[in-house]
Amino acid sequence: MKVLWIFAHPEQRSLNASLMREGLRELTGEGHAAVVSDLYAMGWKAALDADDVRTDSGAAPGAAHAARPARDPRLRIGAEQELAYAEGRLSDDVREEQRKIEWADTLVFHFPMWWFGPPAILKGWFDRVLTQGFAFGLHGADGRVLRYGEGGLAGKRALVVTSVGARESGFGPRGIHGHVDDVLWPMLHGTFWYTGMTPYEPFVVYGADRLTGPSGDRYAQALRERLRTLPDAEPLTYRSEHGGDYEGDLTLRAGIEPSATGLAVHRVRRRGASSETCAEGAARTARMR
Ligand SMILES: Cc1cc2nc3c(=O)[nH]c(=O)nc-3n(C[C@H](O)[C@H](O)[C@H](O)COP(=O)(O)OP(=O)(O)OC[C@H]3O[C@@H](n4cnc5c(N)ncnc54)[C@H](O)[C@@H]3O)c2cc1C
Repeated sequence: MKVLWIFAHPEQRSLNASLMREGLRELTGEGHAAVVSDLYAMGWKAALDADDVRTDSGAAPGAAHAARPARDPRLRIGAEQELAYAEGRLSDDVREEQRKIEWADTLVFHFPMWWFGPPAILKGWFDRVLTQGFAFGLHGADGRVLRYGEGGLAGKRALVVTSVGARESGFGPRGIHGHVDDVLWPMLHGTFWYTGMTPYEPFVVYGADRLTGPSGDRYAQALRERLRTLPDAEPLTYRSEHGGDYEGDLTLRAGIEPSATGLAVHRVRRRGASSETCAEGAARTARMR
């Protein structure tokens, strides 16, 4: 595998930094290539703004806003990102991350969960790097929009490695925090699957704030195992937008799981399985852990 490991934690002596080192040791020991984007260490700029798009390839970042034509003084950020990508005017730090993605076949997103999502620095990486024209907003030869199973990042694996303060039961099928696959839905489905990447079952360290040395070691071992088996692992099976399951208005066809609603209806049922409700799917996932 060619792995890009995107890491978002400010402390090199943290549990998560230690897990990353273990993971990288495993990957290189198995003969895989790995490149790290350690966002805090890089001083990564989190906020997407006008500085991301230069007026021309020689101009300094930040000049874009001043030079915008008087008839449209607004910063139309998505369109301007797309144009800047096409014309080679994206800021150097964004373009460098895109080159790493182009090289990689596997992306690992590693972060402690903060307020039910990634730290702002990683959210900013998504905002700034996964630009229109590069990761999404592409069209097939027949003119259809490529997303949810197709897109600029098609063919790449995506694995979340995260830690949470809460206990596992609270993120389980009936847990108060919501099932962990649902909590991570904005990334797994809304970002990875949307841009064509293939998401895998997230690797989650539960009760992280209460961990002691030995339990930390167990998670390190489990992470090594997960990485070792990733090339042959079964991905999360979301439905493709153009696979025949959706109507033109992007709702699931009436004949598919007619009485089910919620996020789990967008997962394809395993072959041979009887009707799998959201709760049953979540219970199955929990049992596999
Ligand atoms: C702003 C914010 C928002 C949060 N929101 C949520 C939320 O929405 N949901 C939720 O569940 N949690 C939340 N949390 C908790 C957060 O997810 C945890 O604090 C985090 O996952 C712990 O990871 P860490 O790497 O920072 O751990 P650290 O603080 O570095 O370590 C955690 C424990 O692991 C032990 N440890 C074991 N092995 C090692 C090792 N090899 N190296 C270092 N330490 C080790 C340490 O002794 C320590 O006790 C939030 C925390 C913050 C700060």
